[in-house]
Amino acid sequence: MTDAALPVTEQAVSEFVTDYFDSLDATIHKEGRRWEVSIPKDANTELSLDETVVQLVTHPEEADNDAVALTPGSDLFEQIVDDAVTHAPIGSLALTGDDVNFDDPDYVVGESTEVTNQQFTPYYDRHALCVLFDVGIETVSEYQCEMLKIGAVDLADYESRPQLAQTYLKYLEQTSTRPSEGNHRLTDGELTEAIAACREMVRVEIDSNIEDIREKATRAASVEIEEYRQYLQQRRDELRAEKQQLSEQIDELSTAIDTASERTDRLKRLRERKQFRDELADLRDELDGVRDSLNQGMPQRRAEIQDRHALTVRIRPVTATIVTHERGELDVSVRTDDCSATLTCDYAVGIGTLSRPTCDQCGTELDAQNPVEISPLKTTGRQCCGQ
Ligand SMILES: [Zn+2]
Repeated sequence: MTDAALPVTEQAVSEFVTDYFDSLDATIHKEGRRWEVSIPKDANTELSLDETVVQLVTHPEEADNDAVALTPGSDLFEQIVDDAVTHAPIGSLALTGDDVNFDDPDYVVGESTEVTNQQFTPYYDRHALCVLFDVGIETVSEYQCEMLKIGAVDLADYESRPQLAQTYLKYLEQTSTRPSEGNHRLTDGELTEAIAACREMVRVEIDSNIEDIREKATRAASVEIEEYRQYLQQRRDELRAEKQQLSEQIDELSTAIDTASERTDRLKRLRERKQFRDELADLRDELDGVRDSLNQGMPQRRAEIQDRHALTVRIRPVTATIVTHERGELDVSVRTDDCSATLTCDYAVGIGTLSRPTCDQCGTELDAQNPVEISPLKTTGRQCCGQ
């Protein structure tokens, strides 16, 4: 993870936990990063917090003595996520045209052209599922990161709806202005399929994170393997030198034994030679082992290091919300100095425009590069059919 991702993750944790505590009707007194939390006894949860001080910190060890640390990956956060996985009901949310501010379209360019009104007419409701996932990427040894990601899919075709996921995230952040609830219901089969599609969307999104971490882990493993190889080569050279030295000592002893005149002296040297020969045999065994390991590419140690750096990726759904949103047409009224016109496009609340208005003359879509030009009889694109 880059450093920039850390505050975002902390913020996500803070928002998610606040939201989840709210859903349990808990009381939270926040004093900066210290929160005093009490959960009602009859709440549908395994969590038991009674005037417990929860402290948001970057590292668990930074928490005050009287506080429980809350940080991505902390025990408390894991417990809350586990609890949400088991207990959180499927939420529902209805987004209507009243909930959005319409941005000025990009095809209205220039000082003399302005948007005078945008009018949304809803025709029908569409349903999507937004799922909040707890994503953990970790290796046994070094690298780990934890984040909360939202996936959203349309419930009619299970296509991913990234803009809707963004909109839903914004609504989660503004807990005070919660829109009205929808009433669409799902079968278990639909729910399973939709959650799987959301999970796939999140998996694709975090693919580059996973790749980055995998590369780092692979590099770290390669460095360790290389260090071990160098250690073995050094050990091999030491053993060779020791072996050479011992062989020479044995040769010297053999000469001394051959020329020894006294029996006691001869016996002492024989015993010495026997001891050196035993040591030499041990050295040879160790040297053979080191050589074999080097020649075969150190399979045991390599496997052990690679295991230690292998990535585990887990993507757990934490909460799911059915988001019912209106679809219809957006009429955009545009005026220049002496003319005005209304352009129409398909629009979905929470997603944005689904189509672009086109040039009356040639049918080319209007956009920032091909902005609208209005004349008394028609609206055209400046680039495709401009004056
Ligand atoms: Zn045109």
